[in-house]
Amino acid sequence: MTQVFNFGAGPAMLPRAVMEKAQQEFLDYNGMGASVIEISHRSKEFDAIINETDSLLKELASIPDNYKILYVHGGAQMQFSAVPMNLINRLPAKKAAYVESGNFAKLSAKEAARYGDVTTIASSEADNYNSIPAFDASTLDADTSYVHITSNNTLYGTRWQEFPDTGDIPLVADMTSELLSRRIDISKFGIIYAGLQKNLGPAGLACVIIREDLLGLALPETPSLLNYKTYADKHSLANTNNTFAIYMMKLVLEWLRDQGGLDAIETRNEEKAALLYDVIDSSEMYVGVAQKEHRSIMNVTFNLTNNDLLDDFLTQALAKGLYALKGHRNVGGIRASIYNAMPREGCQVLADFMQEFEKANT
Ligand SMILES: *Cc1c(COP(=O)(O)O)cnc(C)c1O
Repeated sequence: MTQVFNFGAGPAMLPRAVMEKAQQEFLDYNGMGASVIEISHRSKEFDAIINETDSLLKELASIPDNYKILYVHGGAQMQFSAVPMNLINRLPAKKAAYVESGNFAKLSAKEAARYGDVTTIASSEADNYNSIPAFDASTLDADTSYVHITSNNTLYGTRWQEFPDTGDIPLVADMTSELLSRRIDISKFGIIYAGLQKNLGPAGLACVIIREDLLGLALPETPSLLNYKTYADKHSLANTNNTFAIYMMKLVLEWLRDQGGLDAIETRNEEKAALLYDVIDSSEMYVGVAQKEHRSIMNVTFNLTNNDLLDDFLTQALAKGLYALKGHRNVGGIRASIYNAMPREGCQVLADFMQEFEKANT
């Protein structure tokens, strides 16, 4: 079997060691003679899995004690609905403020607008989202139920370097494409959510980290299985959850712990991204999409000055085992998604290829 370096944005590559462990345990989990996907979500074995997932996440991300960890159906975009349903009712004005830093950010605001008075307080749409738009938190109405941001913008390759201080107004962040890739002060946020399929495991489920005092505020018509309180009360097992995804997440977290945890992975992620940005910045052929001070270390986006070479670039890259580098259709060009699981070697092979390709074509 030949393995590619998978630069796809999501579902994305998982660590090789995690895939091997899952394969090894697949038919016979922990000597039970049954697979982890065949056992009850209420069994003591699964209970141990979900507890271990919680405690690893808590430890790795330094989650304070007044936060709950939830595993919520439907991936990240389901939270675009769940967040307003659970939080817009915090204050009677039912107001929420959204920062539009990309496509997902825009979609999240659109969804929220079904439930209350939603304002886009800043947008970088006019520049095709090549930066994080500035906004002044002091201008927020005091009766705003929450402020929503997208911490890393997967399509455009931008991220918030520092997070705004919204005072008493809870800050909510979609961290799908970067949770656990860098150290983040969880206590600055009311709710953090992330679809699993970028940095945490398989698709279809979201991990939600919520401050306890924000539970129990949902709009009355909220379906029980979108109500975060249901998840908090029943340890995410009100109904049959995606046990396999939670198990996979546990393996990913164990791997992350074995890598030295968040600080070690952050350093490695910075180095991986720098390998690519250094080539972009020293070349005549490649132009970065994101403004430098807003660059993501998870999604590296760039264009070729001569776009006619794009297909050649992708074909030759694939021949070298560099897979899924095509940029999102809204952006064009190239996108290298280099989540935690991408080994440094993958970035090095891509950086070398970029330099060779430039030499051969100038
Ligand atoms: C991938 C992604 C999503 C979409 O996640 P789904 O699980 O497909 O709903 C949402 N937000 C961000 C920031 C993403 O990167």
